[in-house]
Amino acid sequence: MLTLALVLAALQQPAATPPPTPAPALPPQVGDTSPFRRLALPTPTLLREGSGRAGPRYWQQRADYTIRASLDTATHVITGRETIRYSNNSPDTLTYLWLQLDQNIYRANSRGAALNPTDARFAGQGFEGGYTIEYVRALQRFGQAIGRAPLATTVNGTVMRAELDRPLPPGQNVTLELAYRFEVPEHGSDRMGRERFPGGWLYEIAQWYPRLAVYDDVRGWNTEQYLGQGEFYLEYGDFDVTITVPRSFVVAATGTLLNPLEVLTPTERARLAQALKSDTTVAVIAKTEVGQAFTRPVGGAPTRTWHYSAKSVRDVAWAAAPNFIWDASGYNGVLIQSLYPPEANAGWARSTEYARHSIKHYSEKWFRYPYPTAINVAGPVGGMEYPMIVFCGHRAGDRGLFGVTTHELGHQWFPMVVGSNERLYPWMDEGFNSFINIYSGLAFYHDTVGPGRSPAAQWARAAAAGRDQPPILAADRVNPALLGNVEYFKPAAGLYLLRHHIIDDTTRFDRAFREYIRRWAYKHPTPADFFRSMEDALGEDLSWFWRGWFYRTDVIDLAVDSVRVRQDSTGTTTRIFLASPGALPMPVDLRVTLANGSTEDVRLPVEIWWLGNHYVYERKFAADVVKVEIDPGQNFPDVRRENNVWTKP
Ligand SMILES: [Zn+2]
Repeated sequence: MLTLALVLAALQQPAATPPPTPAPALPPQVGDTSPFRRLALPTPTLLREGSGRAGPRYWQQRADYTIRASLDTATHVITGRETIRYSNNSPDTLTYLWLQLDQNIYRANSRGAALNPTDARFAGQGFEGGYTIEYVRALQRFGQAIGRAPLATTVNGTVMRAELDRPLPPGQNVTLELAYRFEVPEHGSDRMGRERFPGGWLYEIAQWYPRLAVYDDVRGWNTEQYLGQGEFYLEYGDFDVTITVPRSFVVAATGTLLNPLEVLTPTERARLAQALKSDTTVAVIAKTEVGQAFTRPVGGAPTRTWHYSAKSVRDVAWAAAPNFIWDASGYNGVLIQSLYPPEANAGWARSTEYARHSIKHYSEKWFRYPYPTAINVAGPVGGMEYPMIVFCGHRAGDRGLFGVTTHELGHQWFPMVVGSNERLYPWMDEGFNSFINIYSGLAFYHDTVGPGRSPAAQWARAAAAGRDQPPILAADRVNPALLGNVEYFKPAAGLYLLRHHIIDDTTRFDRAFREYIRRWAYKHPTPADFFRSMEDALGEDLSWFWRGWFYRTDVIDLAVDSVRVRQDSTGTTTRIFLASPGALPMPVDLRVTLANGSTEDVRLPVEIWWLGNHYVYERKFAADVVKVEIDPGQNFPDVRRENNVWTKP
């Protein structure tokens, strides 16, 4: 009460007279909005360290599969039984698991169908299908048989939650048993499907069994829907797979064929053994032999079961047809194979040569190919990758076939070995792969990059036209018309720019990029892990580049504003006024031409822009400066080259 009375008394005092002069203006109040401020990344932990390494507490789940599947070529139905041994290496007790049911994208009214017009590349052209799940049971717990306990499930679009009958503690495992079937779509989102050739149906089979979703330290269960444009994110494990097909069919699949005596003829086995030791392509089933009875083992049932084993892979896929031409070669113990119908582009006769070059090139340059085989199959799918096997369009030939083959096989490194989340970060597999493809192509064709033709310089046209989005976008949030630009071309051009013109030291870059692959092989890196690992190994803070190139659509525009001279007792000093009106700063390569006809090349580091986007380069030259040019080699994707040159009036 007393306090209130005093306040009221104070308020009733007459107002003080205003001060004779206004108060001084407050000083500017700003934060660090510079393009050079540190990129905000998740706080480092002992799981994912500040150095970009997986830390001592890093953990990862594991899923080992046994799949028994058969293909009915009359109805195009695949029927499968599957056991998944799921190992919980996380510190968490799990009471439910999530599985990916990608075939459900073909259900009527699926989310993917709503996003993609019927005839779009990643749609099913009106096909309606999806999984029928017969049952999901727990078969074993902690390695002990528990007698088929049925598990309750809930399907949410292309993912399914299975309730565990008992919680799964850390360090323990559970084995699930599933039975399922689905009809193979003819057009399976350009990732799988079938096509009828004169010799019969050719099947390319992928996303063909319920797959465990990834549970990781970053997001828990990764339950992104399969919508079409985004690919996959899967755990590593070992697979034991049998595929039963009509006797006339030849199968190619992820893994090592375990029963060649049952499914191959003695001639084919001998030719494969010869191919494994051959640098050049050896026919296993020659074009003249395709479809003939002697190419299949004699006698027995009307079907044959092909048995495969694959270790440390995140997925398996396969193809089958009665009319494959089959050839092969070897590289360093890896069996390189191609299977294609006689109607494929004649250029497919070089597929194994392209594939062998690709596996050899990437192995020698970045990281040794770890799997026993690499297979290229021609069929309806234009270009799609799975562990050890890729599908490339049968109409492709010559440079087009080389390009798609070396691209799809490059995916063996990203994301098959370095297992990033393709649905969330497509640039980490498509972009990195497109980057390594550049050098595979240059090496195969003994080509070099001419002035102004580098991928980085070519990117300038797309950037100037605004055909750009931030590559950090999740796959299905990218404008389909810009997907190639944003998630393939731009990240590849960015790494090329970094390697050749920002770092300007290919040895230092290659050491860092190899280190990233080595650190994250068979693991699940995030963008932060990549950025940190590269900075750690390169010895550079590249926050400004990662932000402008991968998180934003900032453009590069470097300019020479003017040139002035100053005379004093020490002589004539030339002052070159430079500007960087684009939001993405860059180092500056300057070529200064003097009146005596000589030129001088100067490199200014990116740090010249630390204080703002204007910089004065000041020097004494031997003669008058008559011309100044930024980036005469056209190495940087500068969107406005017309302001790059100053000529003395
Ligand atoms: Zn790709």
